[in-house]
Amino acid sequence: MNDAVLRVEGLRVLYDHPVGEVRAVDDVSFSLRPHERFGLAGESGSGKSTMALAILRLIRPPGRIDGGDVWLDDTRLSSLSDDAMRKLRLAGIALVPQGSMNALNPVLRIRAQIADALGDHGTLLSRRETDAHVRDLLGHVGLPPDVADMYPHELSGGMKQRACIAIAICLRPKVIIADEPTSALDVVVQRQVMATLARVQEELGAAVVLVGHDMGLMAQFVDRLGVMYAGRLVEVAPIGEIITSPKHPYTQMLIASLPSLERKGMMQGIPGLAPLLRDLPPGCAFHPRCPLAVARCRAERPELRAVAAGAQAACHLA
Ligand code: SF4
Repeated sequence: MNDAVLRVEGLRVLYDHPVGEVRAVDDVSFSLRPHERFGLAGESGSGKSTMALAILRLIRPPGRIDGGDVWLDDTRLSSLSDDAMRKLRLAGIALVPQGSMNALNPVLRIRAQIADALGDHGTLLSRRETDAHVRDLLGHVGLPPDVADMYPHELSGGMKQRACIAIAICLRPKVIIADEPTSALDVVVQRQVMATLARVQEELGAAVVLVGHDMGLMAQFVDRLGVMYAGRLVEVAPIGEIITSPKHPYTQMLIASLPSLERKGMMQGIPGLAPLLRDLPPGCAFHPRCPLAVARCRAERPELRAVAAGAQAACHLA
C-alpha cells in the first residue's frame, strides 16, 4: 500500500524463556492509510499488545524484536537511534496506554505532565503559552480547564483516560496506538472515551490502531480489523465483511460469541483454551479448537493469503 502512513512488515518478537525462545509475535504485516482506523483483536496472549509495543520499539528484555520492519511514511524505525526513536514516540506515533492509572504520574498535576511531554520533545513554551495549550488540549478531549490543576487521583477513570488522550495528541501525531484504552471502564464511559478518541482522530487526521478483545467495540469503531491468534494474524478484512462474512473459523467463533438480539439465549463460547506460545501445536495453531480441522491442518501451517477483495485469511479451507 503506497499511500500508507504506517507499514508493519514481517515483525517478529521473541521472549527468552527457560524452555527456549517463545515467539510472541510471528511475522506480522499490515499497513494503515492516513485517517484509517485499524483494529487488532484477539484473546489475551494472542500477541496484540506485544505488537503495539513492538511498533513503538518498547519491547524490554527478556523480550526482543527479532526481525521485520516498521515504517512511518518514509522513516524506517529500526534505523533510528534510541534518542530519535524517543522523539518520534508522541510526535509521530503516540500511545494511549492500557490502564491510565499506571500511565499518569501520580505526583504531578495534569498541566505538568503535558508540559513535560512537550518539553521532552523540544517544544519550549512560556508559562502563558503552556497554559493556553493545555487548556486547548483538555477542551479537545472534553475535560474542563481546571483539570490542569488536578492530580490523577482526583480524576475518575474516564477523565484519566481522556487526560492520557490529551497527552497523546499534544504533538499532533500521525498515528495513535490505543491499547485496550477502555478496558477498566464501565460501558457508558467506554463509549464516551471512544467518541472522544474518534473526534480527536478526525481533527488531527491521524490514523488509529485500536488494540482490544471487545469485538462489539471494534465493530463500532474500526474500518478494518486484523484478528490475531497465537502471535500471528489469521484474518484481515474490512470490518463490515468480517462481521457479516468472517472467513477464518476462529473469527467465525469470535463473532458467534457476540451477544445478539436474534440469537437471544444462544451465546456460544470458543471451546478450549488459547495455546501456550512456548508450546504451540504443529500445523495450524488453532487446530485443537477448530471444528473444521482436517489432517492437513495438523501438519501444515496455513499462511495469510488473499481470499476475497481486500480480505486475507490464514486457513487451508478459507
Ligand atoms: Fe481450522 Fe484447519 Fe483452518 Fe486451522 S487451517 S482454522 S484448523 S480449518
